[in-house]
Amino acid sequence: MKKNYYLKKNRTFTFVRKYGWIITLLIAIGGLWQPKLGLLVLFIMSGLLITSFFTGRYWCGNFCPHGSLFDKIFLPISKNIEIPKPLKSKPMIIGFFGFFMFNFIRKMINIFSNWGNYDFLDKLGLLFVNTYLMVLITGGLMAIFVTPRTWCQFCPMGTMQKFSYSLGKKTGIAKKTDKKITISNPDLCRNCGLCSKVCPFQLEPHKNWNENNQFDNVNCIKCSTCVEYCPVKILSLK
Ligand code: SF4
Ligand code: SF4
Repeated sequence: MKKNYYLKKNRTFTFVRKYGWIITLLIAIGGLWQPKLGLLVLFIMSGLLITSFFTGRYWCGNFCPHGSLFDKIFLPISKNIEIPKPLKSKPMIIGFFGFFMFNFIRKMINIFSNWGNYDFLDKLGLLFVNTYLMVLITGGLMAIFVTPRTWCQFCPMGTMQKFSYSLGKKTGIAKKTDKKITISNPDLCRNCGLCSKVCPFQLEPHKNWNENNQFDNVNCIKCSTCVEYCPVKILSLK
């Protein structure tokens, strides 16, 4: 892969994607003073688990507050280079998920021993605040020195969405509700690779159409960046 292969192109096409990063700062920074703000993460987690059951990682590309921070704030100062393969490998994804969940559950058990105490909700909120802050710092550094969506390659919330999506597919429900990047007419494709060069996840839709002319990749965050930049406008999300 050439060093300057990936292009820095705007990815924030909607209001939520432009300004969702404010929620990240509100929870991760504001939560240090008002820990109950961390409880907002419970709604975010419910949202991502429900939407992923029906349509995979759509949440990551369209609603995630951290995703908005990475794409809106960090993209302009990012080195935007290729994501190192070990960071998106299965051992990394599974290993980090296990590590994260072990620590999260351990802390959760500790906090629930305070059930009924006046500061229970503050303690619970602070757990989410600290997690949000950790992602802001770690994901932010990766966004600057690699590419904005580096953290997302092994994000435990992304892994949970993949579980939920596979459940949705197994029950047959996701088949009816899912949306995928679709090429209307492969004969019109110029093979310019622009759809892949602008992809925040560094996926390669232009080389991977299935028999239904769709890009069937569990990691596609359905952000429609490829749709926006295809010069012949043959891509859509449907
Ligand atoms: S393939 Fe298209 S929709 Fe999927 S992540 Fe890449 S740019 Fe976004
Ligand atoms: S951007 Fe459009 S024309 Fe270029 S390779 Fe992708 S689908 Fe083909």
